Amino acid sequence: MPFQNSISDKNHFNLVDFAGIGFGPTNISVAIAMEELRPELSASFFEAQPSFGWHKGLLLGGATMQVSFLKDLVSFRNPRSRFSFTSFLHEKGRLADFANLKTFFPSRIEFHQYLEWCAQAFASQVNYGERVEEISLIEPQGSSAPGFRLQVAGADGQRRIFARNVIFAGGLCPQVPETLRGKSGVFHTSELLPNMQRLRPGSRVAVVGAGQSATEAANYIYDNVPGSIVHAIVPRFGHSPADDSPFVNQVFDPEHVESFFNAPASIREKILSVHASTNYAAVDLADIEALYQRWYMDRLTGEGRLHLHRMSRLIDATHIGSTVVATVNHELTQTTSQLELDAVICATGYRPRDVRDLMDERTREALRTNNDGSLDVDRLYRVGFDLPHAPALFVPDMCEKTHGLSATLISNMAVRAGEIVQSLPHHHNTKLPLSEVA
Ligand SMILES: Cc1cc2nc3c(=O)[nH]c(=O)nc-3n(C[C@H](O)[C@H](O)[C@H](O)COP(=O)(O)OP(=O)(O)OC[C@H]3O[C@@H](n4cnc5c(N)ncnc54)[C@H](O)[C@@H]3O)c2cc1C
Repeated sequence: MPFQNSISDKNHFNLVDFAGIGFGPTNISVAIAMEELRPELSASFFEAQPSFGWHKGLLLGGATMQVSFLKDLVSFRNPRSRFSFTSFLHEKGRLADFANLKTFFPSRIEFHQYLEWCAQAFASQVNYGERVEEISLIEPQGSSAPGFRLQVAGADGQRRIFARNVIFAGGLCPQVPETLRGKSGVFHTSELLPNMQRLRPGSRVAVVGAGQSATEAANYIYDNVPGSIVHAIVPRFGHSPADDSPFVNQVFDPEHVESFFNAPASIREKILSVHASTNYAAVDLADIEALYQRWYMDRLTGEGRLHLHRMSRLIDATHIGSTVVATVNHELTQTTSQLELDAVICATGYRPRDVRDLMDERTREALRTNNDGSLDVDRLYRVGFDLPHAPALFVPDMCEKTHGLSATLISNMAVRAGEIVQSLPHHHNTKLPLSEVA
């Protein structure tokens, strides 16, 4: 039975037990956990995109997941859930066909369908095309409970929502180096598919970066833009494989979140740095080998379509006429060269969106922070406030330093969602201060 949604009439008094900002995998897993564990709570989710979409700009044919389908949005918490990936395949009539693929790693296109299938079950609780622009703390008065006021903007204008608890799951924000930001002909891999029609046959393209997206983009453009010339500009000697060996992969297991959280900061930093190659600037070996195959065939045929610039950085790009002139710094030879291009694609990573960018001044001031300025979060991904009675604000995407490498990934979402939902207080009959919500 879907949980109750108290925001049915947008012009009405809008108060929910729980508001979710963003409706990507994190908050979908939370919505499922609420339905399964706390159906008595009312909830609403706000998603800036007009409809469900999971990194759609990189939904490339042939790209596969970097996580086992067993680590779907529910199975590690509740393997009997109707929202498992297996249940999805069964409903779509593909269970046997998928089994014959003999893989743990579905295509991203299929996983996107799975996520969308889960999201659809909560359509009445999700407000698509609505961006949360501001979060303000409501402090308790007398016997009233604390909460949050959200300023939400959508096609129909602005409205205010009141929530006793908030989960911020704004996900990742694409990063483009400052020197290339806003330059004509330069875009981030997160916008690769919408920009493909700009790449005419014979286009000259630089792909900047050495991670998973860079490798996928280089392979994809080489195969899908006839006669294209691809310059892979990599800051290291060559693309390095992601470490997904079994003992190391245990770093993503739910049971290790606890020990990671309780370890001294220096040990946490050590784990993040020693095992960064599980996730950062790390590529599926099969994708590296596929790129190498193309590179080798290119040498063999002398076509000159795939160029690897090792230990190199693209430091500037200027649009001259219809050409992008890129300046590349080569560390090995200590030289600089210029490339004439039609497009520069930055596979230069992401950073987690920061909830503080949405807070009003008073709310930011009340935050508890650490010496390094980071948010003080507890084991349940909850931000600390310097107040005797604070409402719960969860920021799971922002917890890599405290909870480990799984914080920005899918691996631990099922268990994490259960922990968050179970921790929600049983106070849904208490009132917010009238002066605030009137
Ligand atoms: C191309 C790509 C492939 C990936 N593949 C994998 C993988 O195979 N395995 C894995 O474990 N991880 C993978 N990741 C990591 C990725 O972060 C997670 O898969 C997952 O997307 C995190 O889910 P999320 O819901 O926290 O964030 P997101 O999926 O980023 O969703 C956040 C949502 O919040 C919305 N939003 C942001 N701000 C606001 C606001 N103010 N108001 C309203 N809505 C807002 C955004 O529109 C977005 O839809 C991949 C990442 C990328 C970029």
